[in-house]
Parts: sequence; structure tokens; C-alpha cells
Amino acid sequence: MNGRNVHFQDGSAAGMLFRNIRIFDGVSNFLREGSNLMVEGNRISGFLQSGEATPEGFVEIDGQGGVLMPGIINSHYHMIGALDANRLHEFSTMEYRGFLYAKVLEMTLMQGVTSVRDVGGNDWGVVRAANEGLIDSPRIFPSGAMISQTSGHFDFRPKNLSIQRSEHAGGITVVLDGMSYLADGPDAVRRAARECLRQGATQLKIASGGGIISPSDPIRSLQFTAEEVRAAVEVAGNCGTYVASHVYTAEAAIRDIESGVMSLEHANLMTEEAVRLGADKGVWWSPQTVVYLHPPEEWNAMQRQKLAIAVEGLQRTMELFRIYNARVLFGTDCFGNMDVQHLEFRYRSQFFSSHEILRQATSNGGEALRMSGPLYSCEGDLGVIKPGAMADLLIVRNNPLEDVSVLSDYRDQLLLIMKDGRIFKNLL
Ligand SMILES: [Zn+2]
Repeated sequence: MNGRNVHFQDGSAAGMLFRNIRIFDGVSNFLREGSNLMVEGNRISGFLQSGEATPEGFVEIDGQGGVLMPGIINSHYHMIGALDANRLHEFSTMEYRGFLYAKVLEMTLMQGVTSVRDVGGNDWGVVRAANEGLIDSPRIFPSGAMISQTSGHFDFRPKNLSIQRSEHAGGITVVLDGMSYLADGPDAVRRAARECLRQGATQLKIASGGGIISPSDPIRSLQFTAEEVRAAVEVAGNCGTYVASHVYTAEAAIRDIESGVMSLEHANLMTEEAVRLGADKGVWWSPQTVVYLHPPEEWNAMQRQKLAIAVEGLQRTMELFRIYNARVLFGTDCFGNMDVQHLEFRYRSQFFSSHEILRQATSNGGEALRMSGPLYSCEGDLGVIKPGAMADLLIVRNNPLEDVSVLSDYRDQLLLIMKDGRIFKNLL
């Protein structure tokens, strides 16, 4: 952190006033000019006309004409993406993994991402350390263990690991200290889902179909039965929250949407029928681009074959999202290539306008996080600049509404990063 700002944050100031800024509020397709923004504690407290006097005791920050916008929300993030997907079992101790996760979380925050929805596999110790401020991290909305069927997308066990040598607990198979839970049958799914919620999950994550990095499942395979999906949805619903599901095919998406899943992850191979149904039910779609178009070099031939199928569907699926005005989230899903996650803005620009992408990465993300209902952990909204919202904000040198890919040049472009009223970077 920049040492110049320490005095802003020792608690002696009544608040902060950002002046000489243009504001993207997370929703509008124009910048608000001529307003100063006040932050008190960890909340945005209001606007002042630029001529008005700075309130008593406020510290002023000159934004130098930059664009103040909400902190970025990454709705498809994994701290376990710090690991090389093909060597999961080599990162054997939890402690070592914890250090790796802390490192990528700090890197993520310094790219302007102030909240992440960790869609599975997170380490609970790292979540706690982030909540307690022991590490510099975005806010984390954890899913806990990823829930999958045996031989499903989250069954990361090496093929030569026999069933006898696998770890079993209460009718569930536990993979890598709880990175995922393998559950077969609705009762086991309920048990796994309740375990996740017991440990602090704000939403649940399941896999309803095949994936790219996993060794034991064709990408077009359908996973779980409708009954198993409904079991997870019911457990989540009983706590006022929801299920996010890993899907690639329209068949899996349609079955999930009809079963009450509210967030469809990836979804590269959609059809008109699936996207129309999703729009009717108000679900969120959570696609990514960087992980497909800039994949890790170490992916093997089997993974590259599956990748090609996912890449092929991307263009048509994104078109369908636009045609049906689908609710779309911003996310990266980087796994083994976390260092390129900031390029999502650049790659996504092939499919959406800068304004659409900015909304996905701010107010849409904030709205989706609210689906956690009573498990939502903030007092105010995220992803918007308005009185009462959480003080998570960025000041960007150039205008991202004109060209959102400036956010991929985060080192140069991000002049200030604030999360929860605290400044983590300040070049002003
Ligand atoms: Zn993922």
C-alpha cells in the first residue's frame, strides 16, 4: 500500500471527499460530471456539487479528472485457481495452499476486483483471514466445497486412486481436504449442501454436466439427476439462498433452470430454447472468455479437445444472451492462469459493448450477490455508486465507458483502489 495514504485511514478524519472526478454509477451509460463524492466509514454517504464547501474534518482526494466507478465484482472466481489443475494432488498441504490463495487474492484486489463470488473449493481459513483483515483480499462470497457426483466435473481424484483409498465421511466422498464433495443420490446431496452452509457458504455450487479440466467426464455429459439438483435447490432455498451450477450444454441448463437453479456458470453451448427459458425465469448467466481464449499452456490434449468444443459455442451463446436481453455476469474462472485474469475485459469486448461489460462487472454482480438473501454479508449494496452503498470504488485514468479494455491495463490505469472504505492503492 502507498504510504502517503496512511494518515487518511488512522480514523482521525470524519470522511473522505473525492473531487475532480467523473462518475460511472454502475448502471448508466453516461458519466456524471460536476459532483463530488463523500465516503464516511465504509459507506458512500452522498454527493456534493463541485462548488460546495468540503465538510468539516473531511480529507480531500483530487481525482485528477479520472473516472470513479464501483469496484469490480468477479462472479466466477476460484481462489483454488492459484493451482495448476493437472497437479492438484501435488499441492499436498493445506498450509501451502493457503499461502498461494492469499497471494492470488491480493493480486486480484490490486487489479481492481473488490468482491469475488468464489464458486467453489475455497479454503475456509483463508476466507476467515480475509474477513479479519489479516490478508489484503477482495470481499469473498464463498461457496465452500463444490458438489458433484462421483466421476463428475469436481471429481478431481487421480484415476489410479481406488475407492478404498479415497476419503469418505457421512456418505460423501471428500476430495482434497474438502475442495469438493462427491454426493450420489438426493440424500447425499442434501448432506453435502448442508455441510457447505454449516461452514459458511453464501450460495451453493454444483456441477450438472461435464467440464474441461476434469479427467473423468466428457464435456457433453449430463451429471446428477433432476432429483439431485432439486435436493440442492431445496436446501439452499430453505436458507434463503440459491444454487449456481456448472453447465456447458443446453440440455443441462434447461433441466437446471426447471429445477430452480438461479445462476448458470459457463453455459457455452446454449440454444434459443434454453436462453429464452432462462430469461423467463430471471436466471443469471455467468459466462467467461479469457479462460477459453487464453488458456493455460500446461493443459493436456484431452483438455484441449474439450476446450475446442467450449470455444466453438461461445460466439452463438453470447449472441443469444444479447438477443434475449439475458442477465449476464462478469467472471474469469481462471485456473492455473490467474495472472491473466485482467484480460477478461479485453477478450469480452469481442462479444459485448463497454457499457454492457461494465454493468456485468458492477451492478449486475452486486444484484446477483443479493440472491444470498440473509447470508449476504454487507450492510449496503455492492457494484453501485450511490448513497448507502459500500465504499468499494476505483478511480480509472481513462474512460472505461468508451473502451472497457483500459481495465486490462490495471497497473497504469487504476489510480486508486478502495475497498470497505480503505485505500489499497493510490497514485493520485
Ligand atoms: Zn469455475
